[in-house]
Amino acid sequence: MEGLMMHRPLLQGGLLDFAAESFPDAQVVSRRVEGDTTRHGWAQLRERAAQLSFALRDMGIGSGDRVATLAWNGHRHLELYYAVPGIGAVCHTINPRLSAEQMIYICHHAGDKVLFTDLTFVPLLEKLKDQLPPMRYVIMTDRAHMPDSTLDALCYEDVLQGHPTRRDWDDLDENTASGMCYTSGTTGDPKGVVYSHRSNVLHAMATSAVLGPDLGPQPRILPVVPLFHVNAWGLPFSGPLMGASLIMPGPHLDGASLWDLCQDEAVESAWGVPTIWQGLFAEIRKRGAKPAALRHIVVGGSAMPRSLTEGFEKLGIDVNHAWGMTETSPLGSQGSLTPRQRELPFDDRMTLKATQGRRVYGVEMKIVDENGQRQPHDGVAMGELHVRGNFVAAGYFQNEDASRKAMDAEGWFCTGDVASIDRENRLTLRDRSKDLIKSGGEWISSIDLENAALAHPKVAQCAVIAVPHPKWDERPLLIVKPQSDTDRPTLDDLCAVLAPHFAKWQMPDDLVFVEDMPMTATGKISKLTLRKRFGDHVLP
Ligand code: ADP
Repeated sequence: MEGLMMHRPLLQGGLLDFAAESFPDAQVVSRRVEGDTTRHGWAQLRERAAQLSFALRDMGIGSGDRVATLAWNGHRHLELYYAVPGIGAVCHTINPRLSAEQMIYICHHAGDKVLFTDLTFVPLLEKLKDQLPPMRYVIMTDRAHMPDSTLDALCYEDVLQGHPTRRDWDDLDENTASGMCYTSGTTGDPKGVVYSHRSNVLHAMATSAVLGPDLGPQPRILPVVPLFHVNAWGLPFSGPLMGASLIMPGPHLDGASLWDLCQDEAVESAWGVPTIWQGLFAEIRKRGAKPAALRHIVVGGSAMPRSLTEGFEKLGIDVNHAWGMTETSPLGSQGSLTPRQRELPFDDRMTLKATQGRRVYGVEMKIVDENGQRQPHDGVAMGELHVRGNFVAAGYFQNEDASRKAMDAEGWFCTGDVASIDRENRLTLRDRSKDLIKSGGEWISSIDLENAALAHPKVAQCAVIAVPHPKWDERPLLIVKPQSDTDRPTLDDLCAVLAPHFAKWQMPDDLVFVEDMPMTATGKISKLTLRKRFGDHVLP
């Protein structure tokens, strides 16, 4: 027997309609590249998105066409997030931190027809233009700020002019592709993840259900996490659903700029990667105060060092440590505490917050050994994390080989992360499987070593990689960027910090210094580069 309920497709446009009609006080505040700050209500943003969607049609964009963006977080970028899928096209966000070579590859691979860009990236595009596919360019600014450019570009505000401000979004199948994001590609070519209207709406519903209660009604949220990478962790969709105001930071993401923005705009919750919070925390120390309204941060993308979580928590800022991937839309787990856990002593709460939290509804998790056998969820057993769910990628865009390799025999997605899951369903990432150090058949977690070494005051950044060893196969090498070049820690100094937390055989065998840590496009330390540079390091 079938249920007797209506079937209405889950479409992204419905989220914007909902916010436009329900939350007249909420705003999208944008610090723009041009230097000014703008404020748009959700209804006004919907009007501009409607105009843009008509303009896209005029440019010949139709169903399934890819429209690329290369831009910071701002209202115009958000307008594209709704206008493009609203007519059945696909919004392909490009990460400006990718190498030129990768950018050229993905524009060709995605088959982009139009590219919308901020003023910042005009010089870069002028340089790459001849190697990019033939595309229409639109510069996201007004006539007064239009640069002289060899791009032969249109001006965004001109493009909007004269179009109606109301439209009904196209009546689409909910499985229609709506967005596209390429993974940073630490190995091989970048791979395209293709989101659908349905997956993005379900992700918004699932994530706001678990994060909403800690955020309160109509929160003021700062997405430091970029719109150009995994949909700013879904905030363009969960934000309107929660009636949030989104404070868009534009290009300035240093500690001082973020402190000022949080203070000026009464930001309550800010979302970003650990590096960002290191910058903000240093600024808070310098000024001797936190931004007044800030009481919550969401952190993910890399493991949040416990010492930094403790620093924020002592200031009364609730740290939610989340895990996710481009392939999981991205939120897979998050770390809000239950009422019982909130009553625990500080140290116990920090231990919980050092984990990656509990899975969100819509993502199932298992950990498996090398033979694909499920391991118990007892908090001790480690295995590769495999996931499946309503907003988990089923494959990569036009890449059968990578799609096949990414799935296990039961059709779950293999994350390449090594994790344990405890009896209360808390996920703890131990490593990426390719980063794992296997010494004498036993695993050493480079993440744990890195986190612990970071507690030493003379360490600014650090990474641990495996180097070959004749007896033990692999041994850990500690790579450190010191806080000061004239006052470097010794290996003994660092081992003294590590000793309470690790067995003797887990300690790093040697220490090398770098002036600068190589970083990936998504702001993580590039272990690939470090392995190339130090993989042959001769241990003492
Ligand atoms: P993003 O950088 O946006 O999280 P990517 O797809 O580029 O997305 O990277 C996903 C990978 O980042 C995960 O597989 C995992 O290795 C790592 N990662 C994400 N969140 C965390 C976290 N909280 N702790 C440790 N590693 C994380």
